Amino acid sequence: MRRSKTPIFGTDQLILLVFLNTVKYLSSKFKTCPFFWRYLTGIDFKKIELSPHCFNNVAKKESNKMTSAKKLALIIVDVQEDFGRPLGALYVPGGEHVPAKVNLLRQALKPDVVFLTQDWHPLNHSSFYTNNPGAAVFSKMVLADGSEQVAWPPHCVQGSAGATFMSDLLLTGDEIVVQKGLRADTDSYSGFGSADGLKEQTSLDAQLKAAGVTHVVCCGLAFDYCVSYTARDSALRGYKTCVVESCTGFIAEESRASERALMESAGVAVVEGQAQALIWLTDLLKSRPPNGS
Ligand SMILES: [Zn+2]
Repeated sequence: MRRSKTPIFGTDQLILLVFLNTVKYLSSKFKTCPFFWRYLTGIDFKKIELSPHCFNNVAKKESNKMTSAKKLALIIVDVQEDFGRPLGALYVPGGEHVPAKVNLLRQALKPDVVFLTQDWHPLNHSSFYTNNPGAAVFSKMVLADGSEQVAWPPHCVQGSAGATFMSDLLLTGDEIVVQKGLRADTDSYSGFGSADGLKEQTSLDAQLKAAGVTHVVCCGLAFDYCVSYTARDSALRGYKTCVVESCTGFIAEESRASERALMESAGVAVVEGQAQALIWLTDLLKSRPPNGS
């Protein structure tokens, strides 16, 4: 049989092949970059169904933008009548001045979200000395599970007037309330839950994460118990955390010093007042628009 001398591809076919492959290559390349392609062609590729690869790239960029945003939560710890009034069941010295200071702090910081922790005990709570026969009030006792517990006077009983937030704490209704100490057999100084991290876990961490919070400022009552435990738990969970001491009150000088040391070793910044808190927040404030709240 005689072979044909005609080549399989003529010049025309070859040019066509190169042209088609170039179009195919450019299409696949620029589909991953819809904004550039739109600039060149005027076609809005965002309105066209994107390939899964392209969609993932865009979604990843959007998600990075969200996670790189800095957000501030103010956690107002246990500013309740029983802790803040001289006649309250568990008065923290100077507690009556705390709401006004916290109001000013909130005004200065303009947090993205505000949490209120609320001690909220059942009447048979194990931290009450009255529920532990033989225990003297304010003494240290050991509970049935082996944990050490201060024997407190009954306080912040669920539904009582003493458990309400102090009347001079300015609230907008947008605050998120996190109750703690609801279980009779364990205590939760921290707004995140009990010290063992197991018996009681509040929704605080999940809600901070849901709000995209990166920075936490803590204040309230008392510096050497619930504020310290909440701030340390916050730092432990990766939030950049600060305590504003002028917006707190403390129960005893000794525990004030020891808790300050524990907070600092946990990475919590303990600052004096709101001016220092604003300096501490410089990196967050820089990332906000000038009139941002
Ligand atoms: Zn309590």
